Amino acid sequence: MTPIIKATNLSKHYGTKKNPIKALGPINFEINKGEFTLILGKSGSGKSTLLNLLAGLDKATNGDLIIENNDISKFSARKLSKYRASIGIIFQFYNLLPNLNTIENILMGAWAGGSKANKTRARELMKQFGIDHREKSNVKILSGGEKQRVAICRALISDPDILFCDEPTGALDSNNERQVIEILKQISDSGKTIIMVTHSKEFTPLSDKIIYLRDGLIVDQNEFEHKNQPTVPTTSNINYSMPLNNNAV
Ligand code: ADP
Repeated sequence: MTPIIKATNLSKHYGTKKNPIKALGPINFEINKGEFTLILGKSGSGKSTLLNLLAGLDKATNGDLIIENNDISKFSARKLSKYRASIGIIFQFYNLLPNLNTIENILMGAWAGGSKANKTRARELMKQFGIDHREKSNVKILSGGEKQRVAICRALISDPDILFCDEPTGALDSNNERQVIEILKQISDSGKTIIMVTHSKEFTPLSDKIIYLRDGLIVDQNEFEHKNQPTVPTTSNINYSMPLNNNAV
């Protein structure tokens, strides 16, 4: 199977050439289409740096990053912006526009804005994720869980193949966390590729692959064959003790 994402000797340095701060790499990994991948590691291990590279929000210092057959590490700013519009991104703190209502926020994720077709799709997504009664509500008055569901609809409005999530349940209480987990499971079941930075253990049973980072390097990788099973797998190769640190990043 051709991987949908392939990183080769990928690295990111901050600082200057003379005094580089090594944030990530060099790392190598592959993700196949439809896989649900978790990126785990303690604060400062390079998770956000990696997610930013994958989502085209930052550029690698060295290495190749092939996504859907294109090396995005070589993209111009214009191509990178086009790439960003082709994927979905979900953030911990939703990143909604506070003066717009639910459907207006969702349509912000669509190329052609408020076209009839986009509005229809936005309404279908709102219905699917139980926020259709909030269509005209200003997002300021929504609960955290509802806000995250709006952000998920916005990420899905253009039907991307890949969804990147940065701590999507990090700001939610356990009830809302459960709902968002269930929604992400549905999205994964629909065949989309999900790559997620998280501190929540609740995602482990849903994942096909876990990439563990420490000091910018991959220290371990687990692959599972239990996709979509409802319970935590009994295989002993899940190492909860290592990177599952509940401190906020
Ligand atoms: P995590 O998301 O796992 O907490 P980060 O990817 O944010 O880790 O950071 C990895 C390392 O890179 C840390 O040592 C951090 O201090 C450093 N770093 C991240 N962003 C910058 C930046 N813009 N400038 C300098 N150093 C940075």
